[in-house]
Amino acid sequence: MRYISTRGTAPELTFEEAMMTGLARDGGLYVPADVPTLSHDEIAAMAGLRYEDIAFKVMRPFIGETFTDEEFKSLIDAAYKGFGHDARAPLVQLAPNHFLLELFHGPTLAFKDFAMQLIGQMFQAALGRSGKSITIVGATSGDTGSAAIEAFRGLSNVNVFILYPHGRVSEVQRRQMTTPVESNVHALAVDGDFDDCQAMVKDMFNDFDFREEVALAGVNSINWGRVLAQVVYYFSSAVSLGAPHREVSFTVPTGNFGDIFAGYIAKRMGLPIKDLVVATNQNDILHRTLETGAYTKEGVTPSISPSMDIQVSSNFERALFDAYDRDGATVATQMDDLKSGGFAISQGAYQALKETYKSGRASEAETSAAIKSYVADHGELLCPHSAVGVHVAEDYLGTTPMITLATAHPAKFPAAVEEATGIHPPLPSRMSDLFERPERLTRVAHDLTAIQTIIKDRIA
Ligand SMILES: *Cc1c(COP(=O)(O)O)cnc(C)c1O
Repeated sequence: MRYISTRGTAPELTFEEAMMTGLARDGGLYVPADVPTLSHDEIAAMAGLRYEDIAFKVMRPFIGETFTDEEFKSLIDAAYKGFGHDARAPLVQLAPNHFLLELFHGPTLAFKDFAMQLIGQMFQAALGRSGKSITIVGATSGDTGSAAIEAFRGLSNVNVFILYPHGRVSEVQRRQMTTPVESNVHALAVDGDFDDCQAMVKDMFNDFDFREEVALAGVNSINWGRVLAQVVYYFSSAVSLGAPHREVSFTVPTGNFGDIFAGYIAKRMGLPIKDLVVATNQNDILHRTLETGAYTKEGVTPSISPSMDIQVSSNFERALFDAYDRDGATVATQMDDLKSGGFAISQGAYQALKETYKSGRASEAETSAAIKSYVADHGELLCPHSAVGVHVAEDYLGTTPMITLATAHPAKFPAAVEEATGIHPPLPSRMSDLFERPERLTRVAHDLTAIQTIIKDRIA
């Protein structure tokens, strides 16, 4: 299995190389050269299996020679054993034909654990073989960072630096990043917003001297390994509702387009998915794009669903690449135009996107109202991101079962949940001492060179 860049000029890589590299050298994102498919019978045979066994069947065709079957199975088992639920991704019913896929039973209470825990295992195995050390640098709006730190804390051949926007993550998110005691964990609180953090991480990857010097590796949502791990729960949930014998639809609260793109891959692999619905908060570049065909930046307005507060959506490039029939040169030109504010998608590519993705947005008031009504009418206490999802999903309910992804546990965003419902969502008991643990972080200016110096000093 070979991986190619969405901008067409970076070298082709193996799965292991694509996973360790993150961003391609031409600025693009890696995608599989061909998407493998699973037959109707292969999908049908997943019914009733453990999550881990479905994960193996779904991901195995993508990893090539990187791991043996036995090795890969044991990495998957290790990745999910710390989850607080045996089903890993349990499905609960909200209403007739509307289901909630609970993706928040991992160690940091958000869906990013599904990808990050597996990436941690895969990185450790690959580095153990090569004897190399790496520096992971990531930007987070809150959940990626805590998930990455949780996955890499204490690993001897990895330093992990997480840039997060100071004052713009929830207290639970911050504490999950600042309380790990391991010396390879570095939480950097940046004076700026998430897009500033993300832009600086991109700049570090484009600084090839720095990239070599610190052996930079990325685990942001553009990492192909992360997208791949997220494909699994589309299969596990669809199969438990009767796929491949019947179609299902998904609504995905999304910001960087990683999670919904994983759903698209599942569909390409042969899972019968009818609608893939993109749900955005008031930072709605994805919804606007799907409505108008123009991808244009606006500022970020902080919301109660902060993990979706983005100005530009990094994984959307993968969707564009396919919409343009894998024409990397066109994608490169459009991404260049984005620097000066935006671009218009060509008619053909826009049609292709509209055929694949539907969309909707939830305002702040609609998000709060959904949190309130879902606990009152359906008995489910939702986090604000999941509430954005169910609000948007309501417009698409019909005869096909709809699965809305619940991306975080309500206790990760207690202020918004309490404001909407009067209920203070308690942390699961396995992490109830989070507020007593001492914090450790470094405040930094929005200054690329200064941050690069900190990184070089810390790993020296
Ligand atoms: C990261 C995150 C999202 C958005 O996921 P993308 O992969 O960026 O689309 C939604 N909800 C929560 C809770 C998250 O942590």
